[in-house]
Amino acid sequence: MIIVMSTSRQEDVDHVVARVEEFGYKPHVIYGVERTVVAAVGDERGKERLTSLESLPYVEQVIRILKPFKLAGREVKQENTVIECAGVLIGGNHFALMAGPCSVESEEQIMESARIAKEAGANILRGGAFKPRTSPYSFQGMEMEGLRALRKAADAYHMPFVTEATTPEQIPVVAQYADMIQIGARNMQNYGLLRAAGKAGKPVLLKRGMMSTINEFLMSAEYILSEGNPHVILCERGIRTFETETRNTLDIQAVPVVKLHSHLPVIVDPSHAAGRWDIIIPMACAAVAAGADGIIVEMHPNPEVALSDGQQSLRPKKFQRLVETLKPLLAVMKKEIS
Ligand code: PEP
Ligand code: MN
Repeated sequence: MIIVMSTSRQEDVDHVVARVEEFGYKPHVIYGVERTVVAAVGDERGKERLTSLESLPYVEQVIRILKPFKLAGREVKQENTVIECAGVLIGGNHFALMAGPCSVESEEQIMESARIAKEAGANILRGGAFKPRTSPYSFQGMEMEGLRALRKAADAYHMPFVTEATTPEQIPVVAQYADMIQIGARNMQNYGLLRAAGKAGKPVLLKRGMMSTINEFLMSAEYILSEGNPHVILCERGIRTFETETRNTLDIQAVPVVKLHSHLPVIVDPSHAAGRWDIIIPMACAAVAAGADGIIVEMHPNPEVALSDGQQSLRPKKFQRLVETLKPLLAVMKKEIS
């Protein structure tokens, strides 16, 4: 249920929040530009009691949320959410350009990656320290050492960084080092991990599972939001189809469809969708044209020696070309990398 307030006065909002809790619901206050609402999430059977709140002079209306995704949907918040990640804005007209290697391989490699990313115009560094590899025999990441190297590189080049946590136990330590926590495609429905990320106090980049529907994707976002973390960025990273030319198929339609349903920022990962470096630039262009709020791209100082995903990583020169190619498109879409 949504309680639409006719004021944003703190004491009125607090009163409604207290009543919502008393009725056995979990309140989430959403301050929009147009209006403030209190979303009351819980068992719909108590809705009669919530409806009584319409008797308060500062409650405009109590309405039922029809969609299964209560907090991620546009019913509670019509305008686009802008998320702040250590000074960088994502959403609205703010475009996130996240770049870096698939995995942190050494301090020098991530330092060099950060330098190249920053100089080319990226505003967020990426790099995996805990890697969710399909094979247990593949490189699993530098773990704690990787987190420390990422922090050092991000600080040296004044960029926030995003990195993945693969288990709920890793969340506190990843949150301590990173500016944004990534939940990978393989873990999109790891509900314990989602709940832990919801309590982390840092923005979360949630990647769509390669075999997940848009509805399931939004329900996973709902797990994070329902724990009290409103800072969720959704990432389309390709889904499995019968096609074998590419690693996955970039579901470009997911960008406008998710945006129709949700106020959360949506970014695109053309690297894991394509699985090959030579179509990253056109796919990134398609993402911008589809209305994405950012991209996350794998870039490596020297892809031929990469320990993971070298085949889909851009060389520094190609990454620079990607940024130059995107600039005029971003201007048309009225978005800026800031
Ligand atoms: C990654 O970003 O390195 C990654 C493993 O991505 P995904 O979870 O989308 O496969
Ligand atoms: Mn990768």
